[in-house]
Amino acid sequence: MAYLENIFDVIVVGAGTGGAIAARFAAKNGLNVCLIDRKQRKKIGNKICGDAVGREVFDFLKIEHPSGKELSCTIKGVKLYSPDRSKCITMIDPRQTGYIVDRVEFGQRLLKDALNAGVKQFLDETMVLDLIYDNDTVIGVTAKLKDGTKIDLKSKIVIDASGLNSPLRKKIKFDKIEKDFSKDDAILCYREIINFPAKDQDVIDLEYISIILDQDKAPGGYIWYFPKNKYSFNIGIGVFMDYKGKVKELYHENVFKEYVKSSNIEIQSSGGGVCPVRRPIWSCIANGIIFVGDAALQVNPLHGGGIDPSMRAGFYAAITAAGAIQSGDYSINKLWDYNVKVMTNFGAEFAALDLLRRVLQTLSNTDLNFGLGKELLTASEILQIAETGGITLSLWDMAFKAFKGISRPKLLLDLNYLRLRMNDIYILYENFPRSYNQFEDWKKEVKNVYDKIHKMIVDVKINK
Ligand SMILES: Cc1cc2nc3c(=O)[nH]c(=O)nc-3n(C[C@H](O)[C@H](O)[C@H](O)COP(=O)(O)OP(=O)(O)OC[C@H]3O[C@@H](n4cnc5c(N)ncnc54)[C@H](O)[C@@H]3O)c2cc1C
Repeated sequence: MAYLENIFDVIVVGAGTGGAIAARFAAKNGLNVCLIDRKQRKKIGNKICGDAVGREVFDFLKIEHPSGKELSCTIKGVKLYSPDRSKCITMIDPRQTGYIVDRVEFGQRLLKDALNAGVKQFLDETMVLDLIYDNDTVIGVTAKLKDGTKIDLKSKIVIDASGLNSPLRKKIKFDKIEKDFSKDDAILCYREIINFPAKDQDVIDLEYISIILDQDKAPGGYIWYFPKNKYSFNIGIGVFMDYKGKVKELYHENVFKEYVKSSNIEIQSSGGGVCPVRRPIWSCIANGIIFVGDAALQVNPLHGGGIDPSMRAGFYAAITAAGAIQSGDYSINKLWDYNVKVMTNFGAEFAALDLLRRVLQTLSNTDLNFGLGKELLTASEILQIAETGGITLSLWDMAFKAFKGISRPKLLLDLNYLRLRMNDIYILYENFPRSYNQFEDWKKEVKNVYDKIHKMIVDVKINK
């Protein structure tokens, strides 16, 4: 191996959507950046995914929107189906309107843009193994290069964007970061991208992604049907992590058989994955290290969308690192601003949606058919929840809903209680402590709201 520089301002671990954006903006801010991925360069971007991303994040980052080979199709909105399929709620949200991308082409573009922005060293096929510490501060990583050599790489700040199973999060010496997550807070998925070369099956709803809630067919999760083009789609299923059977078999029975009508198909890609569906980790930083994207559990708990938040977090991490390096202080206190940015932006939304997700998972198909059929939650309310974490209802709306929900008063009361707690947690996250000192008090208040929802769920189960 040729001479390898081994001291950097920033080491970014993982060149997925979060890491590529972090590396790009760190380099753009004049930092000396090393970007590392265990994958071969040409495979960067390859990931089992629904491939859907909203357009807003590209405007936010002021970067090019997907186009050309990267773009499979443009999406107007989401159709949400009740289990009995009698109700379809169409949600057209400028934030969610966006793209279905070709994941590899998209990933390759983000990588190319990062390298063009001035990343000094890109190491592919390099596995990061551990953190290097100086007392309680991270000062680099140990990695295994593609030729098998083990090397210590030093940096002022490490940005960990190595995905859900981050080896670094598991090794962090800071008790405000959860090393692991509960099985209840993740969804097990299986999906296939299917092409119809004979063109004997048309893809339905080319401009919408469809989500089907069905607790019998997809317990604890949902079935998705995302178009790629007129003769290709991405279909899949997500279920509770402790689902007793094989998720691939469930997919074949409940998804493939329902949606694949032609016998002449080409399966372009298939595979399983795990998606976290909870609030982000308590703190996404420690001394000398910032966690980004799936590594920090920054995924929308309602639909599992993590591309957008990982890109935003990558940007926040880069600008926080640039500020810290300029001041010569890489401590928790200096990096805290990253936590504030994450928690007061999408963190607030995700914490509120985490509560909603927990309650939705306890509802039966009968509840879901009733709730969606009677519009106890309408399309605009669901969008409002997704955007602000809560719903503001006038007295008239409340009375109208009470009238519609009269035959299921308990469900209505539970949904109302949930709505209030979602508002509570959203406000708590918006007021995320501006300094580390007040963190423990804030945590207690957040846990208190979670406990209330947990109690409500237990009561619902007992009364069933
Ligand atoms: C089935 C499924 C469907 C999904 N559908 C959607 C969707 O439609 N829309 C959406 O927005 N989100 C979706 N998601 C979530 C989304 O894919 C992730 O949230 C997003 O990719 C997170 O990006 P990331 O950069 O944080 O991590 P990743 O994309 O996982 O990137 C991590 C990178 O780190 C590298 N790496 C890992 N370990 C090491 C190591 N030790 N050393 C060096 N490199 C390492 C990996 O090779 C990888 O390149 C889906 C997830 C699943 C499982």
